[in-house]
Amino acid sequence: MSGEGCSETLLLGHWAEVALKGCNRPQFERALRRAALQRLPGRSGVELRDGRLVVHLAAGVPAEAGIAALQRCFGIVSVRRARRIARPADLAALAVVAVEEARRAQAAGAESFKIAARRADKRFALRSPDLAREIGGAVAAATGLRVDVHHPDVQIGCDVRADAFYVWGAVLPGPGGLPTGTAGRALCLLSGGIDSPVAAYLAAKRGLALSAAYFHTFPYTGDGTRQKVVDLCRALAAYTGEVRLWVGHFTDIQSAVQESVPEPLRTIVARRMMVRFAEALCRRERAGALVTGDSLGQVASQTLEALTAVGEVAALPLLRPLVTADKTEIVDLARRIGTYAISVRPFDDCCTLFAPRHPRTRPTRGEVRDAEGRLAVGALLEAAAARSERLRVTPDGAEPYPPPGAVKG
Ligand code: ATP
Ligand code: MG
Repeated sequence: MSGEGCSETLLLGHWAEVALKGCNRPQFERALRRAALQRLPGRSGVELRDGRLVVHLAAGVPAEAGIAALQRCFGIVSVRRARRIARPADLAALAVVAVEEARRAQAAGAESFKIAARRADKRFALRSPDLAREIGGAVAAATGLRVDVHHPDVQIGCDVRADAFYVWGAVLPGPGGLPTGTAGRALCLLSGGIDSPVAAYLAAKRGLALSAAYFHTFPYTGDGTRQKVVDLCRALAAYTGEVRLWVGHFTDIQSAVQESVPEPLRTIVARRMMVRFAEALCRRERAGALVTGDSLGQVASQTLEALTAVGEVAALPLLRPLVTADKTEIVDLARRIGTYAISVRPFDDCCTLFAPRHPRTRPTRGEVRDAEGRLAVGALLEAAAARSERLRVTPDGAEPYPPPGAVKG
């Protein structure tokens, strides 16, 4: 074989076929392409071709930056840095590029390899096993790497399509899930703690666009906590695109709860007020669900009875993605998605400040309603909503939304 490899480096993003059944396919693909365009640095080109995303990186953008961007696009299950050789081209051109990929892996320590060949273009003369044998022979001869079809250090993928050959040396994991927005929108209650941003991430992973609400009890919780929540939204926005964050004025509600609710039930009543407040914000956001970071049994307010007492004030579905997760699992995920370091900054959340000494862990429906009896629920919520602010948060920062001077939305 002879020939020069004349190839373009690009990225391939694959998604799981199972999500593509039925008439939702075009919507799914468009959302995925939009997300990729938004996350990729520079003005990179994104095509939908052969049932996958083909990314042409903008000049000067390193492949690593493009890969990292695709690894934050929900819906993508795997990412490949690939070389494309436009056809017509002969097998020798394909072999040259496969050898280059093998050398790259060899430099990183690989001693054995396997060619994973796929002939999607059935008109191509060689069948997949023959193709693997031909290219494998060329790679072994040029590099001295050993063939190991069972446990190779590196798999070199060779894909024959009608318009081009594609070659890659590694398959990297994507985040999985469904493209942002394809499942609608949810509003996540973000406290500044470790759990709620992880819950938001998991909800967003299933295709929900994110709005968020943080209930601020200024001056009991200071601007440090507020900034923490803004920064958490920035971290989440790296996966979901823009997050709309409500900073809800909660001080007067919390004071009223302190005054009129028996101490053991205060946390539960305050949570019920948060859920009611959040549900009112859902109407403004056109959000179809609430999300919290509750985990069963983690603290007194997360017993089954307490979760029931809080959940019963919600008419919308109240999603609790972490309900069965252990704290260690939550912390692992928080580290992986980049929210942990922000969450552990030392600022109190109002829940620790106002926590009763002996919280009621098994509240009954009757006693919670009685405890709320002296609370002017509607008036408190209305006044608080009027004093709340909304921000538009992207990975780069936050700004008031709508911008000052624009018509209030
Ligand atoms: P987190 O780590 O998310 O704070 P947590 O384990 O500390 O959770 P709690 O403090 O009991 O749990 O809160 C349970 C859930 O209620 C939180 O995960 C969050 O969704 C919501 N929540 C609590 N406090 C606030 C707040 N000030 N603003 C918005 N949501 C809140
Ligand atoms: Mg908390």
